[in-house]
Amino acid sequence: MMNKKIYLLAEYRHGAITPESLALAQEARRLSDRTGHTAAYLLLGNELSQKADQLAQQTGLDVFYLEHPDLRENHSEAFHAVLSVWLRDHPFEITFFAYSSLCCEIAPALAYTLNACSISNVINIEILNESVCCRREALYGKGIEVWRTAPGQPVIVTVITSRQKKAGPAPASAGTVHRQWVDPGKLKTKILEICPGEKYEQRLTKAPIVVAAGRGAGNEESLFYLKEITALLKDAALGASRPLCDQKWFPVGMQIGLTGQKVSPKMYLAFGISGAIQHLAGMQDSHCIVAINSDPAAPILRAAHYAVVEDLTDFLPAFLEHLRERKGLKK
Ligand SMILES: Cc1cc2nc3c(=O)[nH]c(=O)nc-3n(C[C@H](O)[C@H](O)[C@H](O)COP(=O)(O)OP(=O)(O)OC[C@H]3O[C@@H](n4cnc5c(N)ncnc54)[C@H](O)[C@@H]3O)c2cc1C
Repeated sequence: MMNKKIYLLAEYRHGAITPESLALAQEARRLSDRTGHTAAYLLLGNELSQKADQLAQQTGLDVFYLEHPDLRENHSEAFHAVLSVWLRDHPFEITFFAYSSLCCEIAPALAYTLNACSISNVINIEILNESVCCRREALYGKGIEVWRTAPGQPVIVTVITSRQKKAGPAPASAGTVHRQWVDPGKLKTKILEICPGEKYEQRLTKAPIVVAAGRGAGNEESLFYLKEITALLKDAALGASRPLCDQKWFPVGMQIGLTGQKVSPKMYLAFGISGAIQHLAGMQDSHCIVAINSDPAAPILRAAHYAVVEDLTDFLPAFLEHLRERKGLKK
């Protein structure tokens, strides 16, 4: 019987393989152990031989290192061009991507080109009787959707990994690196420049206290209180969930979550945030999470170390007054 393959995309950013890509190894090893499928990484880039060796040593998985100067940046068109040819020539059962903006662009396009299924935001994968079963959150974290592919149908999956899930225990032996020159061909787009963005990222990721506003605090009055509270807490930084950034209450650099900043402060204060998995992915490593929400069933309360079930309209003025009193600032 032909040995079935699982491929994992290793994303390289800021001089390192991303922790999210490394975390895929654990998931792939678990599936390999159960099914006998062979798992291997795909690393695309230029002059990354050393990184490919490190990846093979660190994870124990084989690495196919596909090299070309046009793969130097995370250029989605070049990645798509190379992967669509390579994966066509190397049939697979599952190809994993860790969730990222690059993967959002290429995973569905790749599935279309290869006539594979595409399932995104997956939190758990199993292989059952030739089918791949994926679970993902639904109904704002209050439910779970279960998807199953037709038997034998290849699938491209984007997985939500937690940074807590590292590459797992050190492997007994290193994987083998297979280096291959590839050609993305003539590209229609070119990355002209990559320049540093605003400083929000630094402030948010370094602050010992993060005050985070969710849709439940998405009004002028609540945001006034949250800004005052942030100013009173030493070295605190203000951040927000995605809806508030989408609605332009906050710049996108202040968004916390899967598609925003990843923070792990000493204290994370979540005001009016429901706790969708995409938000949790950006803050669940925080040392102490305090959530204030009027809904006792909000998923964030399960992730929190301290939960306050209260309406922000009542809570925020009282909390600000308390902080002012402690600072001797009482009116
Ligand atoms: C591909 C993808 C990527 C995503 N990336 C991100 C991301 O990076 N970051 C992110 O945050 N989201 C992200 N999301 C969106 C995510 O799924 C949720 O929709 C979002 O996190 C919800 O934001 P929220 O909790 O502020 O709003 P809601 O889910 O609407 O929750 C609002 C909460 O406020 C509470 N509330 C309302 N009024 C009050 C009140 N008066 N007092 C107290 N509590 C109150 C409610 O009970 C509720 O729990 C992404 C989604 C997708 C599909």
